[in-house]
Amino acid sequence: MTHLQTQPALPESERSVATDRLSRRILSQALEQTADLVMITDVNGKIEYVNHAFESCTGFGLNEVLGQQPSVLRSGKHNKSFYCNLWDTIRRGEVFRGVIENRRKDNSIYYEEKTITPLINDEGVITNYVSTGRDVSENMLVQKRLRHLAYCDILTGLPNRVQVRRELSQAISHSERHNQSLAVLFLDLDRFKNINDSLGHDLGDRLLREVARRLRRTLRNDDTIARNGGDEFVVLLRGPLNENDVVKVANKLLGSFTKPFTLEGHKHLMCVSIGISLYPDDHATMRGLLKGADIAMYQAKAQGGSCYCFYSRDMEKRVLERMELEKYLHRGITENELFNVYQPQYQISDQQLMGAEALLRWRHPNMGLISPDRFIPVAEDTGDIMSIGANVLLEACQQLAAWRGVGIDLPHISVNLSPRQLSHPGLPRQVRETLSNTGVEPNALVLELTESALMQNPEQAASTLTELKSLGVMLSVDDFGTGHSSLSYLRRFPLDCIKVDRSFVQDLPNNKEASALVEAIVQMAHSLNMSVVAEGVETDAQLDFLNQVGCEGAQGYLMGKPMHPNDFVRHNQ
Ligand code: C2E
Ligand code: CA
Ligand code: CA
Repeated sequence: MTHLQTQPALPESERSVATDRLSRRILSQALEQTADLVMITDVNGKIEYVNHAFESCTGFGLNEVLGQQPSVLRSGKHNKSFYCNLWDTIRRGEVFRGVIENRRKDNSIYYEEKTITPLINDEGVITNYVSTGRDVSENMLVQKRLRHLAYCDILTGLPNRVQVRRELSQAISHSERHNQSLAVLFLDLDRFKNINDSLGHDLGDRLLREVARRLRRTLRNDDTIARNGGDEFVVLLRGPLNENDVVKVANKLLGSFTKPFTLEGHKHLMCVSIGISLYPDDHATMRGLLKGADIAMYQAKAQGGSCYCFYSRDMEKRVLERMELEKYLHRGITENELFNVYQPQYQISDQQLMGAEALLRWRHPNMGLISPDRFIPVAEDTGDIMSIGANVLLEACQQLAAWRGVGIDLPHISVNLSPRQLSHPGLPRQVRETLSNTGVEPNALVLELTESALMQNPEQAASTLTELKSLGVMLSVDDFGTGHSSLSYLRRFPLDCIKVDRSFVQDLPNNKEASALVEAIVQMAHSLNMSVVAEGVETDAQLDFLNQVGCEGAQGYLMGKPMHPNDFVRHNQ
């Protein structure tokens, strides 16, 4: 037996003199009254003595436990091998130390930091075991709570981002050893921000809890689902599995969203986008797998959401480029790299200037000019279009007022609105305030909307357009002919003007189909009291044809390219 004393041990003879001197009464009082829990058993574990502290902590009196085994305290929280190890240790004559979860008489659990010492007689034989311990329940509960806080997501009760990373790295080692595959699914709710903004954070939180519960129920017990933060979740599927198995799970997860979520009596339909990466095919590291799944999720969003996507290297390149564009655009907005150019529109009958369309430009310091066809869809996705669009509108109105100040008579200024701007309830107010701040009269402003923007949510669009119309602004349908709506369908919206898409104009006048179509569009528009502007006019022959069929306005490189305000002045003086 080893002694852990730092002082040199007293020889046994001197020690027994000392204990003799200290009366046996005091020794037994010490045992009785010490604050530590003391239990003495015989060599077979039969209890021969417990002290007061033991009695008051466990609720068992001395006579209740005399002759019993220490297993009266057993909580069931430790497995068999734990107790085997304990007994092996003390039977070898060694000291056991450890924290044991025990059960009191009233069935409550307490944690005992225990030391069990075998008593060995002069012949070197174990005669008894002495167990001393302290109730450390409070410490243990605090520790447990801390562990819980560190590894568990408070809102949903799921493992958190720290825990899922621990589990993923364990799962990777396991898969490596057993030559198995592993799938990481990255889930992100679609348009959750809208819900949070419109319902408030409390309901948003409740929705997240519901989503978490549904996702958990959809998966098997040995799959991990964790909340990564915000409206993101991570799922780990452990091998062996192939792509088909993963597709099945992804479809099950998507399927769990087909039923709406009910909150305070209201139903909310939610969707989720899922990105998937596989070990070891796509990546072999934890970071790689998570990043791959994130990239694939991003791609699923770009495809319209409510779907899943597997990671691929090609995709990574595309997505990273796009993420970079997002980042640059964000910076470009604050650095004022965006500006308007203006393209003139003329009345075909007398070639009078009738208006100008504001078109957005972005000049990046290194990449140069970036086409709006490339960055506007990005801004639309990120929501940056809201601030960009507000600025285009303001600048365009200010420009109109400035031109009028220098004697250019410009009847209209046209501004493009994206679908996201149209669906924002604050749009009419924004337009009204911009007009009154710049002093531009409402009927000088033309708002251009695409067919697809109108069709995304026709009821809402109709009510927003009616509100805009009541301010007195003009409304125009852009790119007409490229969508699938018929003119008569457009009748439900209070529209003033139609812009025939460039793709039809470019085939004029020799292509019979395009010619017939443009002629029909002009006639029908007139029958609905709408005027027509043709875009992308590049030749005199096109202009002649448009004149013949009665189209009112023309815009295109033939008459003028989009230009900076100063060039616009020179062009029209
Ligand atoms: P859009 O509204 O159809 O704008 C007309 C586009 O046709 C402009 O391209 C213009 O430069 C181009 N264009 C005009 N005349 C001709 C021509 O004779 N020949 C040819 N080949 N092209 C011509 P741009 O400026 O590159 O804009 C592209 C699209 O980006 C616009 O199409 C519009 O959908 C969007 N966009 C531009 N500015 C804004 C904006 O401020 N807000 C929003 N939401 N979208 C904008
Ligand atoms: Ca336009
Ligand atoms: Ca157009």
